[in-house]
Amino acid sequence: MSGAGAPFTTRFAPSPTGPLHLGHAYSAMLAHDMARAAGGRFLLRIEDIDRARARPQWEAQIFDDLAWLGLDWPRPVMRQSARLPAHAAALARLEAMGLTYPCRCRRADIEAAAGAPQEGVPQFGPDGRIYPGTCRGRVMAERGGDDVIRLDMARAVRALPADAAFTETGPAHAGTHRLDPERLIREVGDIVLVRRGMGSSYHLAVVVDDAEQGVTHVIRGEDLFAATQIHVLLQRLLGLPVPLYHHHRLIRDEKGRRLAKRDDARAIARYRAEGASPADIRALVGLERSGPQRIGINPRAASIPPRNHPG
Ligand code: GLU
Repeated sequence: MSGAGAPFTTRFAPSPTGPLHLGHAYSAMLAHDMARAAGGRFLLRIEDIDRARARPQWEAQIFDDLAWLGLDWPRPVMRQSARLPAHAAALARLEAMGLTYPCRCRRADIEAAAGAPQEGVPQFGPDGRIYPGTCRGRVMAERGGDDVIRLDMARAVRALPADAAFTETGPAHAGTHRLDPERLIREVGDIVLVRRGMGSSYHLAVVVDDAEQGVTHVIRGEDLFAATQIHVLLQRLLGLPVPLYHHHRLIRDEKGRRLAKRDDARAIARYRAEGASPADIRALVGLERSGPQRIGINPRAASIPPRNHPG
């Protein structure tokens, strides 16, 4: 595994598009704890390439909440919006390999082209609706200013080394996962590498920036497990190291739904305002106490118990 031997380096990579909630706190504290236990590094990266949704006040709140939780990280932090030239260079490499094409389809075009659902044919994958391929075969020279850039998955898997795999250490999927070319074509499809008006996409940016930061261990929520095959595919196509992956359980509300940015009630800032302590947050998300003192659970905070993701 390429990450072996390098100093343990992990990161928390929030997008400043809303308040951090209990799920983020769990992810960040777990990564921080694991780095500390390994004598390694914990980095913070601000994933702000979505300029339409990223806001400076959310970024400021992220720094404030994480510091309040007792986390520490090297400064200055990497800001993904400053990394667009590196993302463009990675795209150029995939383009030179003949793996990319411009796509002018809008959501409605894709819905219409996808047609009626067929039994046994997945409609959605980790990059959203599986692209029906309308623009596949267009050449990059035809790229219009408003086009997105897609990866031609069938070509990409042909360029993929046969040993492409990753190691997962999280509880639900622990083990070695080989990339499956057929599944990538059927269940993932032609993913977007450059979003409209963004210069990059989450998948391309995360892979390029994890490599740049020397991340050896990606620790994040289980909702991103299915996206990991995309990331490993891109790493192998781009000649980047493949880190170890650890997908942790998700923090759920009392109805079992996973927390989202809109869940203001679970925002760290809200708990802070209500007088919870960082130790209360640790207890709420089910992390062991880290300090020498015993932690008293705030009874109000404790009335919203976290629920483990099944498995
Ligand atoms: N910015 C991404 C998110 O907030 C990071 C995902 C990752 O850790 O790879 O979901």
